Amino acid sequence: MNQHIHCLVSDCHYWDRGNVCKAGEIIVTSDEFGNTQPDRIDAKMANQLTPTPVGGSCMATCCKTYVPKGSEMVDKDNIQRMS
Ligand code: SF4
Repeated sequence: MNQHIHCLVSDCHYWDRGNVCKAGEIIVTSDEFGNTQPDRIDAKMANQLTPTPVGGSCMATCCKTYVPKGSEMVDKDNIQRMS
């Protein structure tokens, strides 16, 4: 199965041409959770985390896997970038 996550966040380490996400896996959380948790909390820990509902607003969701291109934090979450 050929699946893509489409994303427009072009300054992310995992973003690639055609507006696709090249992360092996991602996690989407509430903004509040994303703002308060360290970078190491990411998709690899998904089955250990408590769900974070956002009250019906897409504006309150965030991709917790985002990391800026060139950041020294790229390896903190153990997420692999696919080729
Ligand atoms: S990790 Fe998140 S922000 Fe980065 S390219 Fe993928 S979906 Fe977009």
